[in-house]
Amino acid sequence: MNAVIPIQIAQKEPQPSSGSSHQIRQERGQREVFCGLTGIIWLHRKIQDAFFLVVGSRTCAHLVQSAAGVMIFAEPRFGTAIIDDRDLSGIADANEELDRVVNQLLKRRQDIKMLFLVGSCPSEVIKLDLSRAAQRLNAQFNPHVKVLNYSGSGIETTFTQGDDACLASLVESFPIRASEPASAGELQLKKLLIVGTLADVVEDQMQRIFKSMGIEGVEFFPGRNSKQVPVIDASTVYLLAQPFLADTAKRLDARGATRLPAPFPLGIQGTSAWFEAAALAMGVSVQVCENALQAPRQRAQMAISRHRSLLENKKIFFFPDSQLEIPLARFLSNEMGMQLTEVGVPYIHRHHLAQELELLPANTVIVEGQHVERQLERCEEAHPDLVVCGLGLANPLEAKGYTTKWSIELVFTPIQGFDQAGDLAELFSRPLVRKQKIAA
Ligand code: SF4
Repeated sequence: MNAVIPIQIAQKEPQPSSGSSHQIRQERGQREVFCGLTGIIWLHRKIQDAFFLVVGSRTCAHLVQSAAGVMIFAEPRFGTAIIDDRDLSGIADANEELDRVVNQLLKRRQDIKMLFLVGSCPSEVIKLDLSRAAQRLNAQFNPHVKVLNYSGSGIETTFTQGDDACLASLVESFPIRASEPASAGELQLKKLLIVGTLADVVEDQMQRIFKSMGIEGVEFFPGRNSKQVPVIDASTVYLLAQPFLADTAKRLDARGATRLPAPFPLGIQGTSAWFEAAALAMGVSVQVCENALQAPRQRAQMAISRHRSLLENKKIFFFPDSQLEIPLARFLSNEMGMQLTEVGVPYIHRHHLAQELELLPANTVIVEGQHVERQLERCEEAHPDLVVCGLGLANPLEAKGYTTKWSIELVFTPIQGFDQAGDLAELFSRPLVRKQKIAA
């Protein structure tokens, strides 16, 4: 294994039916998606004293570095411990090599308080057990540095699952605290937790709205540093801010927390319903909630109206990639007047997306999974004005004359909440404007 090279880039258990009226078509075949390593880009920006050490190949290093686009001398908080020929052939002991690399890294970077060992296809192929490595390294470095592990490998994943796997490992690492049982007649106070990696600016805006409703002490997970550890117990109610957190939610539920069913905070409709779900659970009156939402909703209305004339009646086709496709389709159809030709999603969590599915127009074509050849044929038949897809498909589709939007941008960019609704709309109108300018 080489020294650290600093770098910067589904199928799951079957779910019960949501009761939604939509027919969801399943498709299996060749997939065109990024792997879970990509999540490192937004996760390392969020948790500001964490380091993400990919245990992988040079391909993994190049993927993350080119996606994040940083200079290699910029001391980023991620890197790759390269598995090389000596590790693969068994000449070197990969565990010893990993320990050596981690020791070097932590000696040099005293600012690191949390270290994620991130598994990859190569580390899984050689069956390097990173959970045991994390235990071993924790014995050496905890409490100064907490060492965790998760898999970002591209085997059976789509790129947002790396984020989910990271957050699930964090929940697992939190101490279990027995909550005091409420005595007879005493009301157990609920604590609200927002779950999902959000930009700090989005969290601050949401916190202001919660405060104006009178909901104090709302926590956000993941926190901005390793010290922020929410207490999760039976008095915790949580709202998901992202639709791809199936494993994280499962871990929270196992700790006794309760998920509040709601659409996701994208666009005015989704954000309003998301806050209303919180208000209802926290005992806030309809009027107080409405008063708190009124001004930000009006601002959002003005911001999106500028883009509506460009997007209205335009046809859009989603290739499956980010797992954000259903809330985005709902926003673009209901608020921007776009026509949904096909909504491809890598994996649909029927419970977490039940409210979203109900808000989609009747007869929306939803396809779960991917057979990329068939999907490309259907895309050509539909001849959409805009195609949302991964980077691998965008260039060939652009070369054929289609206008595309990279789905990964929708995860990098702050798009949640009222004050981001205009930016969200602009992400879709911008490629159409660019096309118009080129044609002019
Ligand atoms: S798909 Fe596998 S080998 Fe390729 S970059 Fe991702 S983890 Fe590395």
